[in-house]
Amino acid sequence: PEPLDPPTPEAALKTLREYFGYEDFRPGQAELIEAILDGRDVLGVMPTGSGKSVCYQIPSLLLHGITIVISPLISLMRDQVDGANEIGIPAAFVNTTQSPAEQERVLDAAYAGEVKLLYVAPERLETQRFRNFAARADIALIAVDEAHCVSQWGQDFRSSYLGIGEFIASLPDRPTVAAFTATATQRVREDIVHLLGLRDPLVLVTGFDRENLYFDMLELANRDKANWIARAVAARPGESGIIYCSTRKVTEELAATLNVLVPQLARAAGRDGFDPGMPVAVAYHGGMPAAQREQAQRDFVTDRVPLVVATNAFGMGIDKSNVRYVIHHNMPESIEAYYQEAGRAGRDGEPSRCTLLWNESDIVTRRRLLDNAGTNERLSADEQEMVHRSKLRLLDAMIGYCRTTECLHAYMTRYFGQALEKAGDTCTGGCVNCESTFQTVDVTAVAQSVSRCVHDLGQRFGTGKVVAVLRGSKAQDILNRGLDRVPTYGMLAKVGEPQIRDVIGQMVADGFLFVAPGRLPLLQFGRRAAETAAPGFHYEVKRTKRKSERKPRTA
Ligand code: ADP
Repeated sequence: PEPLDPPTPEAALKTLREYFGYEDFRPGQAELIEAILDGRDVLGVMPTGSGKSVCYQIPSLLLHGITIVISPLISLMRDQVDGANEIGIPAAFVNTTQSPAEQERVLDAAYAGEVKLLYVAPERLETQRFRNFAARADIALIAVDEAHCVSQWGQDFRSSYLGIGEFIASLPDRPTVAAFTATATQRVREDIVHLLGLRDPLVLVTGFDRENLYFDMLELANRDKANWIARAVAARPGESGIIYCSTRKVTEELAATLNVLVPQLARAAGRDGFDPGMPVAVAYHGGMPAAQREQAQRDFVTDRVPLVVATNAFGMGIDKSNVRYVIHHNMPESIEAYYQEAGRAGRDGEPSRCTLLWNESDIVTRRRLLDNAGTNERLSADEQEMVHRSKLRLLDAMIGYCRTTECLHAYMTRYFGQALEKAGDTCTGGCVNCESTFQTVDVTAVAQSVSRCVHDLGQRFGTGKVVAVLRGSKAQDILNRGLDRVPTYGMLAKVGEPQIRDVIGQMVADGFLFVAPGRLPLLQFGRRAAETAAPGFHYEVKRTKRKSERKPRTA
């Protein structure tokens, strides 16, 4: 094997320049790499496209031994390995697309030190052959990609990830462990550290605020959406956009409608910029034949067609930097999903706009989708229940985003566990909330009653029980437990259940309440709980936005 540079920060920078051809590290990379080279575990929370792979690829070149990369995406492994080999990192993968003989060859080569970077799927760690290999091989580093998959509180929980911690613990020489993810709330981060068994890790969260994005949002009835979108598109000739829809049927209908309406509107306004020989919009969804889907993608990426109307199947691995706007036809299932999809705007750093169209029916639909979600055979009933509840909570945060009157940049970055840095100038890329005044509804009394009820119930019950007690429910369960004897019983008998749930959702989003994890999540006090009992406490929720009274940007 070739002589190694000593694993120093200087060598890391030299490697970045020589192998990757980049002049400098991006935010967070140098710190993470330095820690890894020092033998310290790390957790890197960085947005997609920010350069996580470099953080383990450079150590793989500088450390003595093998770096094992655990990644859930078998379909992307070949590309990753080809990419690494191309710049001179000896890389390979073992997965189920290979014959047993081929898998043997790769493991033998790795054992002989001919492979520095070895990609495997988490299922592989459970096989005896791989365990035997790992017990004897010289493993310097284990990099866990998409590490949030280990947490049942995240969006993409995979039970196979639960075996990683045990695998690491089973190794005779514990290697350094580096975990990476693009999405992790505080709770998911705690899970990653705990379930992977990270030791005193350096946890680094970087760069979630996208300073060139303007976040717009509009509560709009379904029947008005097509016209609204057509006008928005017609007003932006010559610009690329993505419209995300929640169903395949809507993508096709909306694309067809836009192809008629947009040229009409543009002509009426005397605007050029839409090629009369080409459609304005193409539909894209997973149910289309592959050839048609690829054609749609090509037309969009090469700017032949300015607009793609797509389900969330669109975007994975698509590299188009000059998308000027992303419009969501419906509210997505989580902030994670919204951030990922809206974030496809403005990859080139130029000002771009993200608009979320939503209405109350989205909330109903999303809840119903979750309730009717099919069963996953790989999970036990308890695990499924956990996943269901955690998805409900991700949805609640999304609803909170739609309802908040706060700066949307601030809401989003705080959700990802990072405070906006520029004090006094928080709304970096601009957002509709910072430019609007709101009509609000005073829910102070409801919020105070909720807080008192959570107190009365000793923080030992979930949202459903809190609501039932406040409404004075006569349900057997409530009576049996004597919950009809607490002081707040029936205190909000005249307030509708959805309203109480809304206020609770907003209180969770704002930090007054906290949903404690567990098979039966409990509604407990959040860090700001004391404020609700303080004199002068005042709480409002947003109702409608008065556009006519926009505040000036600088206010
Ligand atoms: P992630 O895994 O975070 O989604 P990648 O590791 O795929 O991101 O990196 C995204 C892109 O950024 C890649 O093309 C990568 O080569 C590039 N990149 C990574 N680090 C740097 C850097 N320091 N300077 C410039 N480009 C970089």
